[in-house]
Amino acid sequence: MPVNKGIVLASRPPAAGKASLANFAIFEKELGEPGPGQVLVRHEFLSLDPYMRGRMDEARSYAASQEIGQPMIGGTVGEVVASKNPHFAVGDKVVGMGGWQTFSIDDGAALRKLDTPGVPIQAWLGALGMPGVTAWYGLNRIIAPKAGESIVVSAATGAVGSVVGQLAKAAGARAVGIAGGAAKCAYAVEELGFDACVDHYSDNFDADLKAAVPKGIDGLFENVGGKCFAACLRRLNDFSRIALCGAIASYEGKETTSLPDLRLVLVKRIKLQGFIVSDHLDLWPQALRELAGLYLAGKLKWRETIAEGIEAAPKAFLDMLEGGNFGKQLVRLA
Ligand code: NDP
Repeated sequence: MPVNKGIVLASRPPAAGKASLANFAIFEKELGEPGPGQVLVRHEFLSLDPYMRGRMDEARSYAASQEIGQPMIGGTVGEVVASKNPHFAVGDKVVGMGGWQTFSIDDGAALRKLDTPGVPIQAWLGALGMPGVTAWYGLNRIIAPKAGESIVVSAATGAVGSVVGQLAKAAGARAVGIAGGAAKCAYAVEELGFDACVDHYSDNFDADLKAAVPKGIDGLFENVGGKCFAACLRRLNDFSRIALCGAIASYEGKETTSLPDLRLVLVKRIKLQGFIVSDHLDLWPQALRELAGLYLAGKLKWRETIAEGIEAAPKAFLDMLEGGNFGKQLVRLA
């Protein structure tokens, strides 16, 4: 039987403070055989996602917090290497929530077989997985862009944001990104097809944003919060829609995310809706079909940052929270 190597949450970060490498610990232990109805999966890629930071805290959010001493939660893709479940055969490629470890034993209930030819397996953790569905839901079901409207998305080159911009363009809208640094902004425009992208590190960020949305903002896909959100709020048009997806600038207390006088929402007749993608599992098959179709038609692109080996996961995760990733952050495990 194989030896499983993984990362547990060793301790919680300080309240409203930064997580550090000391909050994680590595483990290694021999795995038993899968029991009746179970499969043994060898993970090929692990997804690192901002929501994991919230799970490290004690405070309960929309999901329970991560238990200390347990492998960190995480999406994985891999191959079935032993099966006592009639629905899975050795050699099947699967996506599931295997966690930060090289193998998992699973009852198969939440495992999905991957059998779409022409799709790299790790895409099911990114643009064709949870982040892609997040983009699809927030853009199509909350913002519902119309041709010619201006749609702004923050963390524009990341796993979610890069899909939002491309879907907005496909809907005939004007896509404007906000991203950290000249290289990310150039990529958003030149590779992903955004109409403009504003660098949030610029000293002229407010003025640059204003210039990038000369007719104001009709749809705001908010991933970051903090000063990016505040600047966008000032440019919202009447009847604009905000899909409040994330507030990563506030996850470690660096910035606060707040609304100014709520009369703004009233006076401009703004629709503001927070959402959690896992509340909409019924729509995942439709979203994944559409996203995979776009990719196979050459109309959906992405970029990846891949850390090598499970030991590299904690640092890659902490770096991602600071913008160290360029595109979907993954860890290669096999
Ligand atoms: P990304 O791939 O976009 O990685 C995170 C990015 O956030 C960084 O690369 C960085 O981009 C940006 N960032 C971090 N700190 C700041 C800051 N202080 N100011 C501005 N930008 C910052 O992650 P995902 O695409 O996976 O997630 C994007 C957002 O979507 C997150 O807020 C996440 O929590 C949320 N989310 C919500 C879901 C839901 O169901 N509501 C589901 C999935 C994700 P840059 O270098 O460009 O600044």
